[in-house]
Amino acid sequence: MGIFTFGDLLAHYPFRYEDRTKFYFIREVDENLPSIQVKGRLGNFSMTGTGPRKRLVASFQDDTGTLELVWFQGIRWVTTRLKPGSDYVLFGKPARFGSKFSVAHPELEPVGENQTKGAFLQPVYSVTERLRNSFVDSKFISKLEREILRQATGKIPENLPDSILQKFKLISKQEALQQIHFPSTADQLHQAQRRLKFEELFFVQLELLRLKVVRQDQQKGMPFTNASLLTTFYEKHLPFQLTEAQKKVIREIYADMRSGKQMNRLLQGDVGSGKTIVGFISMLIAIGGGAQAALMAPTEILAQQHYRGLKVFADAMQVPIAILTGSTKKSERKIIHDGLLNGSLKILAGTHALLEEEVRFNKLGLAVIDEQHRFGVAQRSKLWKKNTEVFPHVLVMTATPIPRTLAMTLYGDLDVSVISELPKGRKPIITRHQTDTHRLQVNAFIRKEVGAGRQVYIVYPLIDESEKLDLKDLMDGYESITRAFPDLAISILHGKMDSEAKDFEMARFKKGETSIMVATTVIEVGVDVPNATVMIIENAERFGLSQLHQLRGRVGRGGEQSYCILMTKDRLGQDSKTRIATMVRTNNGFEIAETDLQLRGPGDLMGTQQSGALDLRIANLGTDGEILQAARDAAKVLLESDPEISAGVHAMVRHHLSAQGKNKTNWSRIS
Ligand code: ADP
Ligand code: MG
Repeated sequence: MGIFTFGDLLAHYPFRYEDRTKFYFIREVDENLPSIQVKGRLGNFSMTGTGPRKRLVASFQDDTGTLELVWFQGIRWVTTRLKPGSDYVLFGKPARFGSKFSVAHPELEPVGENQTKGAFLQPVYSVTERLRNSFVDSKFISKLEREILRQATGKIPENLPDSILQKFKLISKQEALQQIHFPSTADQLHQAQRRLKFEELFFVQLELLRLKVVRQDQQKGMPFTNASLLTTFYEKHLPFQLTEAQKKVIREIYADMRSGKQMNRLLQGDVGSGKTIVGFISMLIAIGGGAQAALMAPTEILAQQHYRGLKVFADAMQVPIAILTGSTKKSERKIIHDGLLNGSLKILAGTHALLEEEVRFNKLGLAVIDEQHRFGVAQRSKLWKKNTEVFPHVLVMTATPIPRTLAMTLYGDLDVSVISELPKGRKPIITRHQTDTHRLQVNAFIRKEVGAGRQVYIVYPLIDESEKLDLKDLMDGYESITRAFPDLAISILHGKMDSEAKDFEMARFKKGETSIMVATTVIEVGVDVPNATVMIIENAERFGLSQLHQLRGRVGRGGEQSYCILMTKDRLGQDSKTRIATMVRTNNGFEIAETDLQLRGPGDLMGTQQSGALDLRIANLGTDGEILQAARDAAKVLLESDPEISAGVHAMVRHHLSAQGKNKTNWSRIS
């Protein structure tokens, strides 16, 4: 289990505790209780059943009722050790059989012996199946922990400085280890957990913040101080008033790009918050400084759309721009390659075709990466290796709001900007939940909106683009829609189509030539058709929260009231219910991301699986946000006063860092 030393074993914390403080009466027993503790009298043993169903049973009684006890194994041992007619304290998991409750393989201890141990929470440790078969079970580990703690009392070094212990009211390491394994009260256990979570997060944050300091000190960036292009754009070509949030973010980016240090900034903004123009303005900062800019998007459709969006501004500013994707023709490629090399081509948008070897820039000053979760970390780093001398500034844009706790851990060494408001005049999207039985009403609603000149998306889940079944769902849906609306022009879009056909359909819809777009999730990211006001998501229970939110963000992009209708079957599981209810309740991407984190745990969130940043022993990013914030603050304060961690009062921190250095995650990989 990766346990080699006493220290490792002490850090093998219980994953739950059994409550031995509460005693139940038998009449209170209920099959939903995870475990029960009951005082009562053991009845006579008898054998029943045959073959594999052969078992030992006995009754167990208190003044309020009777339980049945069952043993399938170890029968001899049970019958020789337990005395019918004596009083025992029983502990186990109750199950219901008809009107009776039974407990299989209960723990039974004579009442007298139990009383001393009765008043605490019993630790439960995880063990492997193999260890369990060799009798190294949870109880055994508990015994080891007790023995080690006895021997190590007074010898467990503190690894947090006094100042931090006092400021955050943390108990000592020694005390925390004692209490985490053998809590004397629920409150003490809570204190121990808080202390150990804090410690864990503190050291993670310390590493991340140190990396950030190192990067800022060592990684030179091109200093861009010429704002003339920016001013021209603001004065002559700005298509709308920027929101305060957009202005603030642009100021942050400009401050980075002129500083002489490399920018590594994550730009978070909910769908529709206007990240594209922020990206363009950042490009102008680089171009004004004599450099080039690149924008990389995860799909061909998106790259095209970015290109078209940027081109309007770029043309107005007379800045040469091109697009490079997998389908760019050879002759065009040559022109692009030459323009990049000689520096005449200023902006290149595209897909990961940008990462190809032949794509060389004269001077790449800024790499904007859209929708980062679609790109592997390795792919991203390729972009900035395209400048050998000085790395380009990097702006990663994401429309997937990342809960603060995750951002702090995953991107702890990046600077984060948030566009926290939507452009004015947007009406919040109204979200409804409908079941399949109400399809006629939904169709009537579609008819009404289309009649008013609007357009409608109908999206089907396509978890894996190779899944034939999903494609069939989509095709069936498309057919029933064409039957329901024989008079309307309907587009279809899915991943199996080639990019020419996709672009053709997308363009038709965008121009308003079709009223309904039946699609898979290929339209999930970034697609912008302001006249589309209805998003219908079929089999919505099959989507994750963040994906539902992304899809909903495809509407509500114009001035008209927009709607999102979540279609599901009638009966839903608990998690699906929560997801749907969350969507109906709020439009706030961050709130949705928080719920998602709580539902799924950090390990499943997009883009975090491979990071290793989440191999936490005791802290939980879904629920320990406050402790994380405190730990991060503490790490910051320490580094500000003692960047090298060389002060005498921080010796224990330095020591702990070098001790854990041997098997720690390579944090730099994450950025
Ligand atoms: P996202 O952040 O999802 O990429 P976009 O950049 O695509 O959002 O912007 C969404 C829409 O809002 C676009 O049509 C864009 O032109 C428009 N927009 C962006 N900023 C503003 C603003 N400050 N005022 C009005 N409309 C804006
Ligand atoms: Mg976008």
